[in-house]
Amino acid sequence: MRAEIIAVGTELLLGQIANTNAQFLSQKLAEIGVGVYFHSVVGDNTQRLQQVIALAADRSDLVIFTGGLGPTQDDLTKETVAGHVGVGLETNPEAMERIEQFFLQRGIVMTENNRKQALVLSGSHVFPNDFGMAPGMAIRHDSCTFVLLPGPPSELYPMVEHYVMPYLTDLLPEKRVFHSHVLRFYGIGESALEERLLDLIEKQDNPTIAPYAKEFEVTLRITARASTAEEGEALILPVEEEIRKRVGEYVYGMGEDSSLHDVLVSELKKRNETIACAESCTGGTIASLITSVPGSSSVFQGGIVCYTNDVKNQLLDVPEEVLSTDGAVSRQTAQLLAENVRAKLGATYGVSVTGVAGPDPSEGKPVGLVYVGIAGEGMPTVVKELRLAGRRKAIVGRAAKFALFYALQ
Ligand code: ATP
Ligand code: MG
Repeated sequence: MRAEIIAVGTELLLGQIANTNAQFLSQKLAEIGVGVYFHSVVGDNTQRLQQVIALAADRSDLVIFTGGLGPTQDDLTKETVAGHVGVGLETNPEAMERIEQFFLQRGIVMTENNRKQALVLSGSHVFPNDFGMAPGMAIRHDSCTFVLLPGPPSELYPMVEHYVMPYLTDLLPEKRVFHSHVLRFYGIGESALEERLLDLIEKQDNPTIAPYAKEFEVTLRITARASTAEEGEALILPVEEEIRKRVGEYVYGMGEDSSLHDVLVSELKKRNETIACAESCTGGTIASLITSVPGSSSVFQGGIVCYTNDVKNQLLDVPEEVLSTDGAVSRQTAQLLAENVRAKLGATYGVSVTGVAGPDPSEGKPVGLVYVGIAGEGMPTVVKELRLAGRRKAIVGRAAKFALFYALQ
């Protein structure tokens, strides 16, 4: 079944409100395995609405409208759909009763245009509005089902949950679910990842493979359509295995909600280990990410923001001659910072970051040059040199995430 959503309302086009109804409806349709192929927004204008309806009826099996069911002149969804289908409007007695009750209870006189809200398309299936006045409705025409829903989310959401979803589920020839796995990557860019998986992405159908970048990390969602979650799982597993074979070294976790810092904290907890950090160019970002995870106090000893050479020297014992010969941004400094913060704060691991975040070069070193040090008990200290692209904020964000990623290794 091919579905599309048409939101009606000039205020949407003017940018006064966001089209959250379309987002909600798409999520609800995904839950029952109905693919949404188009979202359209059209103003309160009969002619343009007619055009959109004609196009939608031609390419979709299910067209859901939101908005324009109300009592005012600019509410014209019902009239326009009725015109397309070739039926008239009739009063729905239950809706009329509700509207009359509403005015009676509040002791206000009902204006004539409020009767308009009880009108439904002749021959349509009516969805009661438990939180407002205008009912929703569904009508079949040729091979297409039109569903008309009110604009206010407080009316639309409950109507969809209680009445529309059962109606749509009954329409479906077979029950389907969307089942997905989310793989989390670090150390590889979105485009590099896509390139390594291009043939898989190109021939994808079921499951589909979608990489996207978020908060300096790359996420890959593998989604299968199936009749049960188990069947979906069986479709996903061989594809996931192939992906891991090619780029598995960059996978650090799974799931939408498991960022690098979440995984690092839970990993350290499991191993009963602790971490401390010395941050120059990241200015506390690593400490902030780690401490954003609930329960991080059992693994995070603390951090020192060693921004100036004085602090690197006085608090973390980086000798003056290292700072003046190798420089603050150097392998040597990163190594000493990691080792000394670990020793001073009594942690299993010490992580350090020193680099040039820009916009100007420093010590004659280019913007984006960053050193990450990882020191640990009974292991040789590792220093990684990074050449990061982007503006200051991106360099800081990526450097902090690289430090977390290396700490996980
Ligand atoms: P009413 O009886 O309130 O006039 P209606 O069905 O005619 O309802 P509209 O007049 O189009 O709906 O919109 C009413 C209000 O609902 C808007 O002012 C807005 O706050 C909200 N709304 C409408 N469409 C959307 C949408 N697509 N996404 C989110 N909110 C919406
Ligand atoms: Mg309205």
